[in-house]
Amino acid sequence: MSMPELFETHCHLNHRDFASDLPEALFRARRAGVREHLVIGWDLESSRRAVELADPDQGLFAAVGIHPHHASEWSAEVRDELVDLAGSPGVVAFGEIGLDFYRNLSPREAQFRAFEEQLTLARERLNLPLIIHTRESMADTLDVLSGVPLGAGGVLHCWSGSCQEAERAVDLGWHLGIGGVITYKNPGSLPDVARATSLDRILLETDCPYLTPMPYRGKRNEPSYLALVLGRLAKVLDRSESDLAVQTRTNAVRLFNTGSEPANKISTSV
Ligand SMILES: [Zn+2]
Repeated sequence: MSMPELFETHCHLNHRDFASDLPEALFRARRAGVREHLVIGWDLESSRRAVELADPDQGLFAAVGIHPHHASEWSAEVRDELVDLAGSPGVVAFGEIGLDFYRNLSPREAQFRAFEEQLTLARERLNLPLIIHTRESMADTLDVLSGVPLGAGGVLHCWSGSCQEAERAVDLGWHLGIGGVITYKNPGSLPDVARATSLDRILLETDCPYLTPMPYRGKRNEPSYLALVLGRLAKVLDRSESDLAVQTRTNAVRLFNTGSEPANKISTSV
């Protein structure tokens, strides 16, 4: 029986919630068909940890950056260390960066400054694709993104905007990350967005340990649950899981330039 191979484009295996069972979580993910994991940093410490975990031969990749919650920590020293980290093996993206006006854990002014300076850094010095976080800040985020060159592109992760906003993001050249919310009883406009968006712009993600899909909502999320996101999205789009897996994995391999596109599926006996 051949199993769809998946690229998990947003996970926090660098989070303390995985400190005690990371090998087991990775084993379960592999068994569920997850072939690549992009481990995302949110501050300096978690970015260092993401780089430590990176192991391209094992399908483990890293992104480094300062999340809007930590925007107040942004400084020239932080910037210089991120540049160093970004040159490490297995670092294929910059992020997560962006704006979060829901929790406002850093002042908005600091958020804009950290976001814009990291955008420039990723574009002009590092040429890395971006992982963008936005919450209650979609219009501002899209305004900022529309003012800079697309560069190596990137993804608006855990998409939560309207169909019109999705159209704008895709027109600007961005990918949309779809995760566990698609499995919820009330997924908002996400199914409509997914149906209206060209398949070559959709990426799958878990955002684990957060945003656990049904039926495990309330427990810790983990990468193996990406298969649940795939299953639900396939139903929403009325497509086969294997087609959707191949397409979304191809999108991720191209965006993050991780080599070997899934031309031929590997058979896994179970
Ligand atoms: Zn995240």
